[in-house]
Amino acid sequence: MNPILELRDVSAAYGKITVLRGVNVSVMPGQIVALLGPNGAGKTTTLRVACGAHPVSSGQLLLGGRDMTGVSPRDLARIGVCLIPEGRGVFPNLTVRENLVMMTFTGRSIEEIEEVAYTRFPILGKRVSQTAGTMSGGEQQMLALARGLATDPAVLMLDELSMGLAPRIVAELYEHVAEAARQGVAVLVVEQFATAVLHTADHAAVLVRGEIEIEGPPDELGDELASLYLGSA
Ligand code: ATP
Repeated sequence: MNPILELRDVSAAYGKITVLRGVNVSVMPGQIVALLGPNGAGKTTTLRVACGAHPVSSGQLLLGGRDMTGVSPRDLARIGVCLIPEGRGVFPNLTVRENLVMMTFTGRSIEEIEEVAYTRFPILGKRVSQTAGTMSGGEQQMLALARGLATDPAVLMLDELSMGLAPRIVAELYEHVAEAARQGVAVLVVEQFATAVLHTADHAAVLVRGEIEIEGPPDELGDELASLYLGSA
């Protein structure tokens, strides 16, 4: 079986500065892959390449085994690649419902989108007319997830889902991510700190200065992860 998402030997740069060097990442349907690493390692750039928002200098982006290098973010979104960016990815001045209405561009009706969102996240059903920016960080992240899942993605990518949230809320959010994976979505998660995601991920890779230093099943990486993080602190 082909991975749904594959970055093959990808290098990428900002101007003359290379920030990714020969990165290989693949995510199978239903799998959760965590991409970890210190500040500035290139994690966000990897996600930007994977959703078509940043060009590769060399290497390939494949979806379901097909070469999609150079395809626009818009076209990749249409075929099921969804990125929830760092900082929630909701419109703070719009209500919950308005944030969901925007996802009708996918062709789904607002009724269908709301049904999925409020069944999965009942708290959002109680906040329909509330302005997103006035909700708690955890609720905003739930809304961001609901918006992402409303597109019925084949690939869901999350950048720093846990940022600024209490561990209990993060665990709850990851339970929703795991549920999406159980339904077959390929999930690629970026986190700077490992603990939150390691309980959920099937595979973890650590990016340091644009290269994957170590990777494997999270429970086999424990000690190496600790030394890498302490080493780069
Ligand atoms: P963080 O956790 O801080 O977001 P990261 O691992 O996601 O870190 P990236 O954001 O991918 O790392 O950044 C990788 C490198 O590229 C960093 O050195 C960063 O300074 C640089 N960089 C990121 N965005 C740009 C940009 N728009 N222009 C120039 N350099 C950039």
